Amino acid sequence: MEFEKIVKEILDGELDLSNFIHLMNKTRDFENLRRLFYVASKLRDENIGRELKLDGFIYPVKPCNLEKYCLYCSNYVERFRLKPLNAEEVQKAVDFIKDSGTKNLTLEGGTSKDSSSNNKILDFINIARKAGLNVILDFYPISPVELKLFRDAGVSEIYASFELIDNFERFKPGESLKEREELAKEICRQKINLASTVLIGLPGTGPEEWIKTLLYLKRYPIKHCFISGFRPVLGTPLENCAPALPTIIAKIVAIARLIFKDADISAGGSVGDPNSLPLLLESGANRAYLGAYVTRVRTSKGFSDELESVFKTEYEVKIQGELVFANPVPYVYSICEDLGFEVL
Ligand code: SF4
Repeated sequence: MEFEKIVKEILDGELDLSNFIHLMNKTRDFENLRRLFYVASKLRDENIGRELKLDGFIYPVKPCNLEKYCLYCSNYVERFRLKPLNAEEVQKAVDFIKDSGTKNLTLEGGTSKDSSSNNKILDFINIARKAGLNVILDFYPISPVELKLFRDAGVSEIYASFELIDNFERFKPGESLKEREELAKEICRQKINLASTVLIGLPGTGPEEWIKTLLYLKRYPIKHCFISGFRPVLGTPLENCAPALPTIIAKIVAIARLIFKDADISAGGSVGDPNSLPLLLESGANRAYLGAYVTRVRTSKGFSDELESVFKTEYEVKIQGELVFANPVPYVYSICEDLGFEVL
């Protein structure tokens, strides 16, 4: 089948996996890849505008206490498990993020089934809302009662990440896809915006499963799809595996745009630095985790041997006490100005 015919069928709503596999094969040809990016980028411009929404984040706001940790995550390695920020630290982080001009803030954490682990979250939400930030939540689990509390406190979006539809429990042996599905349904039932992550590039997974996961997400009124490119972490069982390549991530971003025409699409992980932004915007993304962020400082080797390799030097990064304060916003503005994008 010709490239144009496949794209037309997909845009007309024929979301068969086979169409996407054809498309993946066709875009091995560079001219077709450029055409795919052009179509996806145009869809973004028509449905959303030539705009980039910036998200900041604070990590961690909640610990990860699993019996079996996810095989790709830094929490797999005991010395990398970070102590959650307290309310005073969250206030400092919120002030820093607000001052950077970032409007969206994700409160990120791990999975902790200890029922008291969400107790402080409401305070954190109130601090961020008082500063006028839009608040997004990304941690597990969240009960239906807590969802209602968080929604009533003004949270605008919550993650229930499916990550990988066939290999979820292989890479996440301490977690359950079924519980994620139940959370996604409850988020929608309570009329909160649903966000979800698709994980690209883990060994033994491929485009077929990544696209199946996107198509599975299409069953939900998804508002934000985050494409996460695998990035190996020292000390995990996957430390020697190759990271997800930027071009394959960009292709999946473009395919996500064909599927979710007017949803927010962002990408991170191995393409989490500002220098990947032009490629991601070119392929149809409209959102990025490149607002200001605050994390607990790592005390020993993390994603790389040197702190400078973890926290990029193209933008302001300062360490104060036990926290890292980073502000890529001015750098992102300069990139977006060159590309004709408005930053929101
Ligand atoms: S649940 Fe999240 S934070 Fe915890 S190990 Fe898995 S990926 Fe890491």
